[in-house]
Amino acid sequence: MIHTKSQQLFERAQNHIPGGVNSPVRAFKSVGGTPVFIKKAKGAYLFDEDGNRYIDYINSWGPMILGHAHQPIIDAIRAKAEDSTSFGAPTEVEIQMAELVKKMVPNVELIRMVNSGTEACMSAVRLARGYTGRNKIIKFEGCYHGHADSFLVKAGSGVATLGIQSVPGVQSYVAQDTLTAPYNDIEEVVRLTQAHPNEIAAIIIEPVAGNMGCIFPATGFLNSLKKVCIQNNIVLIFDEVMTGFRLARGGAQELFNIQADLITFGKIIGGGLPVGAFGGRKEIMQHIAPLGNVYQAGTLSGNPIAMIAGYTLLNELNTNPSIYQALDKKTKVLCEGIHQILEQKHIPHTINQLGSMMSVHFGAHRVVDFESAKACDNTLFNKFFHHMLESGVYLPPSAYESWFISQSLVKEDIQQTLEAVAHFSL
Ligand SMILES: *Cc1c(COP(=O)(O)O)cnc(C)c1O
Repeated sequence: MIHTKSQQLFERAQNHIPGGVNSPVRAFKSVGGTPVFIKKAKGAYLFDEDGNRYIDYINSWGPMILGHAHQPIIDAIRAKAEDSTSFGAPTEVEIQMAELVKKMVPNVELIRMVNSGTEACMSAVRLARGYTGRNKIIKFEGCYHGHADSFLVKAGSGVATLGIQSVPGVQSYVAQDTLTAPYNDIEEVVRLTQAHPNEIAAIIIEPVAGNMGCIFPATGFLNSLKKVCIQNNIVLIFDEVMTGFRLARGGAQELFNIQADLITFGKIIGGGLPVGAFGGRKEIMQHIAPLGNVYQAGTLSGNPIAMIAGYTLLNELNTNPSIYQALDKKTKVLCEGIHQILEQKHIPHTINQLGSMMSVHFGAHRVVDFESAKACDNTLFNKFFHHMLESGVYLPPSAYESWFISQSLVKEDIQQTLEAVAHFSL
């Protein structure tokens, strides 16, 4: 494969943009090499500036669950844009969006739109602090809740990928208010709540973690968390920025039949435009301004173009829930295929999969938390990544990111992907 244009663009970008990218993992720093610059995408395929085609397993880190340039979304954006792109005043499409989300996620009683998953999580935690009058939060090692200061402690995603231990610029008093526990370790959560009575405002968790690979909650873990929250008047926040509308219409909450107090959304909810949202119990949400005094605002929040894009996507997912079974089936075929090939090659591996989220870890042990994810062979992953890229398969450029499967991926794409895996050698 030729990457001349990408190489030239990367050199040019680095003169103007830190590391040449506007979000760190895109730079390929941990896997090495030059990031490919994307020109366009359609369905399951990305096309780079050099004209190479890739089967896409990132799908914009989630939003493209129905594939790229999905026609109804493109049409809706085009039509809406004719009426201007922003007003800074309320619009009907915001209500339609709120009504639809409430239909899909029934325990959302009130919802506020923001512009990113980061903003959603940051605002949800501020609300929990304002509501409880407490300062501390508990998060889990390897979970990523965006780049707000409180969350950059033992964070997953790019922070883990780049091996950053503590983030310069995050003041120590902020970091001190973020307590951490290993994922799936309820004893440690109980210990923290006992060590800090009446100090913990919220527990925030990815109900299925997708920022250290794809990691499942142990049986009963989420229910135990909920119990601890009820006993200690702690607000339980499910960060469903990744899992929301992906694992089921109602996200992980529906899948595991459990309800959090507050839920954060991002990624799919914007249909590829910058949208986040947080919502949940009215009793808590009514503390948000202008109803209450917990201030939260945004010039472009609820932007009509972003709303219509997200609404169009959510509406399709809501009316065709069989999509989720189809996605799960496809993903299972892919995982089983990769497993068989790697086994034949005697390459120790673990594959985690839930619905259309999956991750391939190069280690024989079970991957259940950040420690076990870290213990895998990242050098081998990097080699695998580049082999796949050169074979026309675009995987997340990090051993700590989940792969996302889209509905536009067909049997032939999976076949081509498996052939590429079959040609991988140590
Ligand atoms: C992506 C992600 C975020 C951050 O969302 P941005 O839109 O990138 O700010 C937060 N939480 C989870 C679980 C995510 O996957």
